[in-house]
Amino acid sequence: MGIIVRYLLMIAAASFLAVAAALPSQYSDFKLEDYNFTDVITRDVCIVGGGSTGTYAAIRLLDLGKSVVVVEHKDRMGGHTQTYTDPQTGRTVDFGVLEFHNLDIVKNYFKRFNIPLVLANSSSPGVTSYVDLRTGKEVAGYVPPDPTEALVRYAAQLTKYPYLGTGFNLTYPVPEDLLLPFGDFVTKYSLQGVVQLLSRYAQGFGDFLKHSTLYVFKYFGSAVIRDLQIGFLTTARQDNSELYEKATAELGQDVLLKSYIVAMDRDAAGAYAKVVVKTPDGLKLIQARKIILTIPPKLHNLVGWDLSSNESSLFAQFRNSAYYTSLLRHTGIPDNITVLNAASDTPYNLPVLPGAYEISPTTVPGLYTVLFGSDHPLPDAQVQADIISTISRLGTAGTLPTTIPYFAVFSSHTPYELTVPAEAIKNGFYKELYGLQGQRRTYYTGAAFYTHDSSLLWQFTETLLPLVVA
Ligand SMILES: Cc1cc2nc3c(=O)[nH]c(=O)nc-3n(C[C@H](O)[C@H](O)[C@H](O)COP(=O)(O)OP(=O)(O)OC[C@H]3O[C@@H](n4cnc5c(N)ncnc54)[C@H](O)[C@@H]3O)c2cc1C
Repeated sequence: MGIIVRYLLMIAAASFLAVAAALPSQYSDFKLEDYNFTDVITRDVCIVGGGSTGTYAAIRLLDLGKSVVVVEHKDRMGGHTQTYTDPQTGRTVDFGVLEFHNLDIVKNYFKRFNIPLVLANSSSPGVTSYVDLRTGKEVAGYVPPDPTEALVRYAAQLTKYPYLGTGFNLTYPVPEDLLLPFGDFVTKYSLQGVVQLLSRYAQGFGDFLKHSTLYVFKYFGSAVIRDLQIGFLTTARQDNSELYEKATAELGQDVLLKSYIVAMDRDAAGAYAKVVVKTPDGLKLIQARKIILTIPPKLHNLVGWDLSSNESSLFAQFRNSAYYTSLLRHTGIPDNITVLNAASDTPYNLPVLPGAYEISPTTVPGLYTVLFGSDHPLPDAQVQADIISTISRLGTAGTLPTTIPYFAVFSSHTPYELTVPAEAIKNGFYKELYGLQGQRRTYYTGAAFYTHDSSLLWQFTETLLPLVVA
């Protein structure tokens, strides 16, 4: 068996085990009342998911004098925030969440953990080369359009919907423009010049020209436009995960890592909802006055939840894109070149997906970031094989010198953007979704309830806290 085939089989086996481990199938018939719990955790609030919003909610509730417990199925907190430490140099490289908004809420949060912030350098490192990664050939003569004028027109459209800044608080009937596929909206308002810029920000969204304009406005909103001018923030030590490591340390036993919901009774009699969790130390019963859901509310991710038919029918409508990040070594590509995927035969030269969005150098010599997107989930092994052959095509086409690379780290951020069809938005999907807020002792935050933006999600979560605390 060739070494590459063996490598791919190993990856496939590892991905299978990861998925299998995420499914506590032996508990599918679990009956709360049949089990005599010796390990009972009683808290004011149980937070499900220890990523960006879950960690923020936990720390803020602690500061407000509430007791919490966080249930996180991975072995770390941080979610999409990931940082790699180069074993040779000890340097850290963020390869998930990179930047934050220049807002007081962000500054105060990092200050609380003594983590200094600096202005982020948002430009691509080195020289940028636009390459069609299907062929490995440069897109001859391609220069991205200057977005300035179109951005002004985009911002003018955005100001018509100030309520989008606080969530999916839509007016009804929903304005037709918000329901238009974004590609049609671009044509209608001559926004062609801004599409390339948006495509850099909307990485992970899949084909965002097909998404309802609502989602693009939610993601690329006024806070982003403002910080494009004044600058985003990032951690001075280039280690965004430090926030989560410090939060984990502070929360101590209030975080249950590698833990899964097995069963739940949110309508239990008495003061507490009951949540059964499988932890590495066995089954535990959590009794909590309130629950905060921060995880992607896809049905397959809510195994063990006592979903009502209304909750199930809402969550079942979510579709999702897929997003993958990796750090590659030994690409052979010079350390001063960023490769951006583009195409000569697509609208606005957008890259063809599934495919890599970009291949860019990091601050560690010889270490490259590769970001990969798809409209639908793919097996990790397939994405990895695609990335390796993409690098190889750059060499074969004679565009750049390449060697056979290997992964220092690979991460799937799937499911990523959760969306529903325009018809569902029109028919009041978000009104009903937000109507769940506070029902059955449960509160909802996280990207599906606002957008993929850590800083703004902290703001959104902050607005929920008075309700949770009440
Ligand atoms: C590659 C990448 C780059 C990004 N860059 C930026 C950026 O620069 N700036 C920015 O503001 N935003 C960025 N984002 C978006 C931002 O990370 C997200 O908006 C934010 O993390 C969403 O927070 P969340 O709490 O909803 O989800 P997450 O941060 O993903 O947290 C969800 C948590 O729940 C856990 N979980 C999931 N399912 C379960 C389950 N069933 N049981 C228990 N736990 C579960 C997950 O493991 C995770 O820890 C980026 C995202 C990605 C993927």
